[in-house]
This record gives sequence, C-alpha cells and structure tokens, in this order.
Amino acid sequence: MFDSLKKELTRRTLLHKASFGLMGLSVISSAGQILQPSRTLAQTSPSLPPEKKLGWAVVGLGKFATQQIMPSFAECKQSKLVALVSGDRAKAEKYAQQYGINPKNIYNYQNYDSIRNNPEVDVIYIILPNALHAEYSIRGAQAGKHIMCEKPMAVTIEECQAMINAAKKANRKLMIAYRAQYEPYNLAAIELARSGQLGKIKAIVSDHGRNLDPKDPADTWRMQKKLAGGGSLYDIGIYSLQATRYITGEEPIEISAITHSTPNDPRFREIEENVNFTLRFPSGILANCSSSYGYSDTKRIQVFGSDATLELDPATDYYKHRLTIKRKNGIEERNIQEKNQFALEIDHLSESIINNKQPKTPGEEGLQDVRLMQLIYQASRTGKTIKI
Ligand code: NAD
Repeated sequence: MFDSLKKELTRRTLLHKASFGLMGLSVISSAGQILQPSRTLAQTSPSLPPEKKLGWAVVGLGKFATQQIMPSFAECKQSKLVALVSGDRAKAEKYAQQYGINPKNIYNYQNYDSIRNNPEVDVIYIILPNALHAEYSIRGAQAGKHIMCEKPMAVTIEECQAMINAAKKANRKLMIAYRAQYEPYNLAAIELARSGQLGKIKAIVSDHGRNLDPKDPADTWRMQKKLAGGGSLYDIGIYSLQATRYITGEEPIEISAITHSTPNDPRFREIEENVNFTLRFPSGILANCSSSYGYSDTKRIQVFGSDATLELDPATDYYKHRLTIKRKNGIEERNIQEKNQFALEIDHLSESIINNKQPKTPGEEGLQDVRLMQLIYQASRTGKTIKI
C-alpha cells in the first residue's frame, strides 16, 4: 500500500512545489513579516484522499486527547482518526459516534494488543499519564504499529531506551509529540536565532509555569510521583529545556539547579513545585530556566543576542503566540500565520512513515530530555554543578 501512496505523494508534492517556486526559503517582507517560516515536510504537502490517509488510534481519552488532539485530525492532510483505546466503554462510544469511528475499533487496556489484527490502524498515539507511556508504546510497537508518544517520553532513562529498542526491533517509527518543534512561531524563532539576525546569541531565558489545580482530574495524577515521574519539571519545565536545545541546536555541557516546594502545601507532598536550572552550551550560550506548579500561566522564551533580543510570549500556547524583537531603534512585532501545531506534528509522523524517514523528534530526542531532567534533579539534590 505504501509504495503507491508514496509515489502519489511525491508526484503531488512536486506539483505543489513547482506551483509555489519558493519552497524551502524563508522570505521576510518589507513590513518585517515572515511569509514562509521554516517548515516541516507535512506543512508543504497536499492533502491525501481520505482512503489513503494513515489510520491513527488514540490511547487515553483524557483532557488533552479529547480537547486538542482528537479535534485536530479534521485539519490533518495525511492522517485520520480510526480507533480509540479507553478504560471507559461509554466514553469511548460517545467519542466514536462524534468522530464517525466504527465501534469495532474501540479497544480497552486489556484487549489493546489485539489491535495488531486491525489493518485500519497504522499509528498509535499514547496520551496517558507519564508512567504508562513506556508500557503502552512498547505494546503498541510489538503489535506492529508506529508510535507517537506524549511528552515526557517516559519516567526513566531505562524506559525510554526500552521504547526505542522495541520500535527498532519491530521496524516501526517512534516519535515524541514535541508540538513546539512544529509550530510556526517557534520555527521562526529558531530561524531568527540561528541565522544571525539577532547577532551572536549570548543567553536564553525560558519560564514555564501554571498553578496546579487539585480539583482538576487531569491534575490528580500529576501530584503522584508514581504516575507523573516528577513534578513541574517533567510536565512543563520540559518546554523550557526543549526551547534551549532547539533554539541553540546544541546540547548542554554543564548543569546546575535548585528546587523549592511550598512547605505544607498538600499538592507538593510527592512532587516538586519549582525548579530553576542553568545550562552551559558548547558555544558559550548560557540558559536560565524555570519551571513551576505555583505560577499563574507562564509560557515564555527570551533569546538575547548581541544585536537584538527576541521574545516569544506566549511561546508554547496551543493557539496564540506573540513574537517581538527588540533592537536599539525600537520594538518590532512579527505577525506569523497561526497554524494547528497538533495537526502539523501528527501529519509529520504520517509523512515520515510514508517516506520512510526519521521523524524530526524521534525517541532519542525524548530520551535526551529525560536524561537531562534527571541530571537537573541530581544537581539540585547535590548542590553541585554537573559537567556532562
Ligand atoms: P488526563 O488525566 O486528562 O488524561 C489521562 C487519561 O489517561 C485519562 O483519560 C485517564 O482516564 C487515562 N488513564 C488510564 N490509566 C490511568 C491511570 N492508571 N491513572 C490515571 N489515568 C489513567 O491528562 P492529560 O492532561 O490529558 O495528560 C495526558 C498526557 O498528555 C500526559 O503525558 C501529558 O504530559 C500529556 N500532555 C501533553 C500536552 C502537550 O501540549 N503536548 C498537554 C497536556 C498533556
């Protein structure tokens, strides 16, 4: 099936490219607007007919899956939602009806492995509490399906490695859902920082925080170390860490960190509230990051260059972003067309499968973040700077 699909996609992509001419280039208009920010493959590809789109199963029908991911399939060009995996049959049936999914494609956590016998399912998207990512990704790969897994990839380095090994053994793709790496404002920031348009990059500051709500069912498991793996760092500090890595294109060589949790706050009996960490990169760039379960909503990235300072705020929201560049002669705001980053990342994996390419954010990318987050905890525990 994939050969004919690939041929069709290649032909359509070429036609599409020919009609636009400027593919692959970033064009900045005289008004300072980025007209064509860097793209992933899927952003440049035409839509496949429904019968040729890859079939996806979503595992875990929680807040993020039902409010962001499942509705986004309507905007996907290469992917369609065809199956659901849930412990709650009534909930799954309700969503199956809403999304036109055949009830025979509803699975539970016990019969999940029998998804191997369903040729309609090409890819499985794991949207469960963090501690369940490894088990369901590995079982999914063993069932012969490609895997998209939510961040953080897993709780331990060993689990991440086991997921990578399982996908390799089954000859399936494994991608981590780092949506910011498919989102146009973040792609523009990467391009601005790496192309020298801000001068020489000296420092990055990134802060991610929110006020954990014990009444929200989606936050209940986040307060339990066994299910969450860690506290604010694992959940949202990972966005600050990711930002430093994708903006610099480098890996940190030194880490120091401190943590603090409000004493007697029942939310932080098992997991940490605040983590501040500093990273040194090989080029000399320093990064100061913070992560908190006590802040009001904060999703900010700042890049300090010798000629200009870039600020993305909000940087990692679902739909609204703002990018400003401050220079000696004033502040410029860049208006970039918002796109559905979830649809873009989902299609990126489908297209990587169709073209047999490594996705941009493979398992190894998720493993690196888990490795670094473990070192951040270690640096804070020991009070020592860690050289990597
Ligand atoms: P949620 O609690 O709303 O959803 C989790 C789902 O897993 C629920 O439907 C729950 O019933 C199910 N589940 C199955 N077994 C469970 C168990 N043993 N304990 C608890 N729940 C169980 O949480 P969420 O906010 O949707 O987060 C799910 C995943 O998605 C997490 O890994 C989170 O980090 C990730 N996430 C990513 C983003 C993003 O922007 N990329 C945003 C939010 C959440």
